[in-house]
Amino acid sequence: MFDTSSRRRLLTSSALGGLLALSALGATGCADRASDAPTPAADTAPTPVTADVAADSVNPETWPALAPQPLDPAIEERVTQIMTKMTLEQKVGQVIQGDSGTVTPEDVKTYRLGSVLSGGNSAPGPLPYTDTATWLAAADAYFEASLDDEGVEIAIPVIWGIDAVHGHTNLTGAIVFPHNIGLGAARNPDLIEEIARITAHELTVSGHDWTFAPTLAVPQNDRWGRTYEGFSEDPDIVAAYGDRIVYGLQGRPGDDGFMGAGRVISSAKHFLGDGGTEDGVDQGDTNISETELREIHGAGYYTSIPAGVQTVMASFNSWQMRKLHGDKELLTDVLKDRLGFNGFVVGDWNGHGQVPGCTNTDCPQSFNAGVDMYMAPDSWKGLYDSTLRHVQEGTITMERLDDAVRRILRVKIASGIFEKGKPSTRPNAGDVAQLALPAHRAIARQAVRESMVLLKNNDGLLPLEAGATVMVVGDGADSLSKASGGWTLSWQGRGIANSEFPNGQTILSGITEVVEAAGGTVIHSPDGSATEAADVVIAIYGEDPYAEFQGDVPHLDFAPNGFDTETLGELKEKGMPVVSVFLSGRPLWANPEMNDSDAFIAAWLPGSEGGGIADLLFQTDPGYDFTGKLSYSWPAKATDAQIDPKRAPYAPLFALGYGLTYGDTTQVAAFSEESGLSEAYVISSNVFYERGEAVSPWTILLTEAEFSKTADSFPTSISDLIISRADHLAQEDGLRLSRAADTGPQELRLTAPVQMDLTRQSNGAMEMVFAATSFTGPKEVQIGMGCGEDRTCDQYVPMTISADGWADYRVSLSCFADLGADLSTVGTPFIISSQGVMDLGLSHVRLEEDEDGQANCANG
Ligand code: BGC
Ligand code: BGC
Repeated sequence: MFDTSSRRRLLTSSALGGLLALSALGATGCADRASDAPTPAADTAPTPVTADVAADSVNPETWPALAPQPLDPAIEERVTQIMTKMTLEQKVGQVIQGDSGTVTPEDVKTYRLGSVLSGGNSAPGPLPYTDTATWLAAADAYFEASLDDEGVEIAIPVIWGIDAVHGHTNLTGAIVFPHNIGLGAARNPDLIEEIARITAHELTVSGHDWTFAPTLAVPQNDRWGRTYEGFSEDPDIVAAYGDRIVYGLQGRPGDDGFMGAGRVISSAKHFLGDGGTEDGVDQGDTNISETELREIHGAGYYTSIPAGVQTVMASFNSWQMRKLHGDKELLTDVLKDRLGFNGFVVGDWNGHGQVPGCTNTDCPQSFNAGVDMYMAPDSWKGLYDSTLRHVQEGTITMERLDDAVRRILRVKIASGIFEKGKPSTRPNAGDVAQLALPAHRAIARQAVRESMVLLKNNDGLLPLEAGATVMVVGDGADSLSKASGGWTLSWQGRGIANSEFPNGQTILSGITEVVEAAGGTVIHSPDGSATEAADVVIAIYGEDPYAEFQGDVPHLDFAPNGFDTETLGELKEKGMPVVSVFLSGRPLWANPEMNDSDAFIAAWLPGSEGGGIADLLFQTDPGYDFTGKLSYSWPAKATDAQIDPKRAPYAPLFALGYGLTYGDTTQVAAFSEESGLSEAYVISSNVFYERGEAVSPWTILLTEAEFSKTADSFPTSISDLIISRADHLAQEDGLRLSRAADTGPQELRLTAPVQMDLTRQSNGAMEMVFAATSFTGPKEVQIGMGCGEDRTCDQYVPMTISADGWADYRVSLSCFADLGADLSTVGTPFIISSQGVMDLGLSHVRLEEDEDGQANCANG
């Protein structure tokens, strides 16, 4: 991690309205406090697209009436026959999907589960991913268990789903295609269909039946950690891909090969409004009109449903505070009835548990709203019991259960699963030679070329001379993991060795191949410290991988990670022109880096065919040129995350559709280095640690006596204290602090090189709140607050963490003030100090309103 405060980025005082005012350390004067922070100008308020019928109810008749996919009478008759032979328990089993991390083949047989999924971290075996043979053996085991007809009149084959969202990326040796954000820039629907076809082909090698793709989100705020999963902020681009990707995965309805050999079941996700949440908060609330929901976020469904997509995944988000997983009007009245969707709706990862009144193991509301198959990764057994009970008691009608089962069987029959036989006996199954076929890699490489967008090429620096001496710098050059982003081999995709991508090529290797063939020289200097002179510097850097909520950010200022981009200016001063190849899952404010680069390429997350980058940099045969155009507008300020072309003035740095070619002689002038973040750095959040991440600008510091270290990956340790990840409300969203020895004291601190003024918050009786639990007996700790680096101003209160499960603990800010803390200069808002043997969970550290009107200065 680099200290962004020392960087050239200039902070201004006009900024997002927010709760906390922070001042850069060392800055004098404290004039710009939250109370004086300017309110957003009126002209930044979004204007609705058109007036709405009613804001808080759904009007299905305003949605497109799509012709339903014609039902095949033979299939319907067969479903009817099968259903007459099924027991009630079997029907309930069909509507439940568990995760392979907790479901055994025996469970599939006993509970007659309809489906198994493998989440991003749950391949069979010790790793989050595995090889063909291991996947296939597990596929056979589940399949055979499902067809064991002991005790039933008819056995139904199970289907196995996985997130093949940019290639079959939990399988070693499979091709990693560019993430959707890059494919959106390619503006090439034919290519999308090919990529989907190849992905399906590779899925059949490992015996998978179903992919949770495509993501048809239309992200409207780049702060969202899933921005890269969406093709574009523009609904038209998403719509233009929605049908073609489904054709590639499933084949075309009516054609002979529809869902035949080499094809899989597809899932359009996440219905609906996942890309529209406020502030881009993952799983948040999409607080927009029905018109916007329909016109922006619905777009991809109007092409994918007519293309025959067999399943649709319900979304985690809510629309106007109504959780989609419980929204009958949207799931049933709109999706099934109005849009004519005849397949089945699958839930998202315990998404039903977020519906008010539900838990992960009990949620008839979701089923009654229209979810046909619950995604119940670890909760499937409890959910099976409660669902069975709800049908017996009538909370769920037999009619509703039969409708869901009919939909599931309809898809299973149409997909040929009843006839396909055991996974290992199907065409291509187990044949690793079918992975990364040369013709398929060529398509992936083409996709890399077509996804890159040339933002700047001053003095026609590109294309480069291949016979030159080229210095390659940056941590992205030699990392397939960094070039691939989240959902690659593991859920978060971080830090996976190049050797785990046996069929991939790094960007560095692609460059080296071209340069050496032309008699040139490559100097690989990851940190740019090489002293040799080169004709040109190619810098490859950008965001580190992330997935879902772990990728949410408070603003768009690019925080260099793994490569100090100040080096670019230093290399330029030595007289070498600089080309930046920027790897990112979203457009980011990187004006200082752009200014220090003569040429700047947005390469997104290109995946495993790094050679495609060199094809363009050096314009290799047959003379490739840039064709990629921005599918997301590029922000002029770090605070410009909300996309709103209808807002005036809307002034991105580069507009949607921008992209240079070699023929363009456009000179890009130096950009302002004012990020838009305030000098009294105003953030829009009062949260310090949430969903598995310290919220920027805060970082986690572990300290012991005079020693300290930053913790940015886990597990990590400081002497005997081990910090790893723990599950609080979601997988790995919390931290685990364990110490097996009777030593200490050691501290975990949330700190930043800025100070904030919490005086007002203290007067307003706000409290520091955190979630914690002790996995052993009750444990006494000290909770502290301090001014930052100078630890002499830390103040602590004692708290006992109970062993009764996760709970919120609250300390009034006034307690720290009473102890003598200066709340006008808080640089370390949270400290947990402890000693001795312990095993604690810690999560969700934030400021909240006082609940009970009492000063809480200790508990118990
Ligand atoms: C996510 C899943 C992911 C899993 C990894 C969950 O919290 O929602 O998508 O696959 O963690 O085990
Ligand atoms: C994600 C889905 C994914 C599922 C299964 C969820 O957390 O939101 O996109 O398909 O996990 O991994």
